[in-house]
Amino acid sequence: MKTAFTLLVSFALLAGSSAFAQKFEHNHRDIVEDGVREDGSVSIRTVDPFGNKVRVVVEPKGPVLPEAPYDNPEDPRFVMQSDEMDYDRASKARVNIDVYACADEEYRAAYSNWTSRLNQIIETADNAYVRDFDINWIIQGYYSWTSSSIGPSGILSQLASAASGLPNGLVMGFTRDSSFNAGGIAYVYSSNPGLGTSVCLDQGTSSTIYALRHEAGHNYGCGHDASNSGKVCMMNYTYAYSVDYFDSAHDSLVNSHRTWFQ
Ligand SMILES: [Zn+2]
Repeated sequence: MKTAFTLLVSFALLAGSSAFAQKFEHNHRDIVEDGVREDGSVSIRTVDPFGNKVRVVVEPKGPVLPEAPYDNPEDPRFVMQSDEMDYDRASKARVNIDVYACADEEYRAAYSNWTSRLNQIIETADNAYVRDFDINWIIQGYYSWTSSSIGPSGILSQLASAASGLPNGLVMGFTRDSSFNAGGIAYVYSSNPGLGTSVCLDQGTSSTIYALRHEAGHNYGCGHDASNSGKVCMMNYTYAYSVDYFDSAHDSLVNSHRTWFQ
């Protein structure tokens, strides 16, 4: 199947917004084998289109959160982009990571302003990575990509293939394909792949911001915390849609991988 992958030039500079916290309850134990986990995720060991041995984690859909405003500086929920925020993290050198913002045909059809929408989602999600890791995602372009109705795993693989040849960075896909019956999906890398890929379902801007942070956490090598572990972490489904930080173990892991995708 041929995929269209076209760079659109956009200089939209819109700021992000704060997201509203809402607890997403799960009270099941994780299991570590491949297949469906008790928290509702699916974990599959596979090889990505570049030959990296990876796990794929497919997430269930999240809760519906109030929409975040993406272009109204007068709205009280409006927050500045990470680049403009004054974080005091002088102990680390900023790591700039190129991001390729990709929307499929259903997403683009639904939102004529899809580039500014993706700008808001990515830049807002990025704030937590700047704050905690001095990882700054820099959107290099907005890409039109055509997804096939082959489900989350196929769509993830399709996007990764379509994006091959791009310089190192994070490929962030956003879909409204009817076959994408998941909240998000991502490769979990065990070593730096150079180019990392994830796909999020359009669940509204607020929920997608949480989902994107979580999927990026997978790209950086994080698995899930068990829902009943009590660990407050975006990689625990109990908190995945209400916190924007990692527990200490995942924090250390992402810290040790912070130069991945450079
Ligand atoms: Zn996950």
